Amino acid sequence: MTEPDTMQTILIIDDAKENIVVLSRLLKSQANIIFALSGEEGLKIAGTNLPDLILLDISMPGLNGFEVLEHLKQSQTTADIPVIFITGIPDAETEEKGLNLGAVDYITKPFASAVVKARVRHQLKLQRLTTALKEANTRLTQLAMSDPLTGAYNRRYFLDALKKELERVQRYRHPSILMVFDIDRFKSINDNYGHDIGDKVIIEMVKVSTTMLRKNDTFSRFGGEEFTILLPETPLAEASQIANRLCMQIARTTIESGNKALSFTVSCGVTQLRDDDQSPDSIIKRADIALYQAKQSGRNQVVIADDTAPLVSN
Ligand SMILES: [Mg+2]
Repeated sequence: MTEPDTMQTILIIDDAKENIVVLSRLLKSQANIIFALSGEEGLKIAGTNLPDLILLDISMPGLNGFEVLEHLKQSQTTADIPVIFITGIPDAETEEKGLNLGAVDYITKPFASAVVKARVRHQLKLQRLTTALKEANTRLTQLAMSDPLTGAYNRRYFLDALKKELERVQRYRHPSILMVFDIDRFKSINDNYGHDIGDKVIIEMVKVSTTMLRKNDTFSRFGGEEFTILLPETPLAEASQIANRLCMQIARTTIESGNKALSFTVSCGVTQLRDDDQSPDSIIKRADIALYQAKQSGRNQVVIADDTAPLVSN
């Protein structure tokens, strides 16, 4: 862990100005100091400035320190900010109450300067580590659910979304749709133009698709040149229009390769999620069969999977 290049911030909340002056002087070499002279003002500042540590007085007119801490813990944005009580109330019961409410430390006045400095330094260090850990976790979560080339969701994320949507369909009985798209003759694009161009085609496919989708649709790069789209609460006729529009839009798209413009097409299988689907697998299988029919019928088209009459459009 390297030293931070930015100073951390401590918020002091105390109704006595002289306490703020003393603490500021003591701690200004360790952090930026901001302050509030009441609990109400302190809560406001905490919510907007998100300090790394709060030093909190207990006896204050208006909201007292305990009440301020309770409010901090109730809000998601401030719940994780560590709070140290600094107080002239030296009894064990008050200290216990403070710690039970979620304070990380409790310092009684009169205090030894070196002790306050050491305890504050310790909390600031912990806070720095916690922040770094949270950021690393967010990055890992992002990586675990997305495709590195395009940033689109990956197969794992999509299967999870499809499973949840299947549960919703079975519960609320609304129509939801799965589409599977596959880039036509992708192998020959790679063979003839190279993998860099192949990658460009993939990236373009993602770009065009995501601009055409609605807010609640989930798009994924499901595998190499295969993409899936989940359209919740969408009737089959509307889904069919969307799939056809996407097919046409892709066919109009070109990729530059040297001085040539390369165009490409996609085929698509569409199916509706069903009450009797046991798992995402059976839905994907139906869409894949429709996709296969689209390929067999000459590519660059949409086939709707339908038990009674598989219907070729476009
Ligand atoms: Mg006070």
